Amino acid sequence: MKTILIVALMAVTAWVTLGIAAPVSAAELTVVDAEGITSLVADGLQAALSESMSSVLSENEAASLMYMREEEKLAYDVYVTLYQQWSLPLFNNIANSEATHTSAVKVLLERYGIADPAAGNGVGEFTDPTLQKLYDQLVAQGSQSLTDALRVGAAIEEIDILDLQTRLAQTANVDIELVYGNLLKGSRNHLRAFTSTLQRQTGEIYTAQYLSAEMYETIMADTTSTGIPSLAFRQRGNGNRNWRKP
Ligand SMILES: [Zn+2]
Repeated sequence: MKTILIVALMAVTAWVTLGIAAPVSAAELTVVDAEGITSLVADGLQAALSESMSSVLSENEAASLMYMREEEKLAYDVYVTLYQQWSLPLFNNIANSEATHTSAVKVLLERYGIADPAAGNGVGEFTDPTLQKLYDQLVAQGSQSLTDALRVGAAIEEIDILDLQTRLAQTANVDIELVYGNLLKGSRNHLRAFTSTLQRQTGEIYTAQYLSAEMYETIMADTTSTGIPSLAFRQRGNGNRNWRKP
């Protein structure tokens, strides 16, 4: 595995050295940086959506989008708040990518004419009472220490993974599958980023709080979504390709 990574890294280096942009698939919807921080690419999503068939959403699908819009916002809001408290750049970096996640769900809300539950809400304000409670609880916990803050980050990504998986199983809508599938990839990468930083900073080996031990181990063992194509993609620069903050 290491050898393959090194060879691929050399290939990326060669591209950069020669000044040739690494090839990127038109279907590329995410930008993953070296830390595994995963953002959705706005124009990539727009292009993919225009190719897909849209249909009328069920009530359950509409409710799912409204919930995930606010759940991705919760991740952004908690990380921004914890960054202000602990100044660990990881929180700021992941917050920026969560901004692209919640914006991607907003694109689907607009596409299907569903009211945005986050409209008019500032950081730490939620329309869904469950998410409001969760936000308050997580920020209180993450304010106790940097270790707690990193545990909170991992917990949010675990919750996100479970909620996305549940909702993916309840839909056959291609637009929703596209967005949720990419958000899931982001959450897996962010879970690895938080747990590896926790271990590096404190020596603590994180244990799953919401996922089954088996599912957690599978995610930890899989590093493909932080792989080389992402590094190559990163070399192109992503300054104007990201979503704006919500
Ligand atoms: Zn996310």
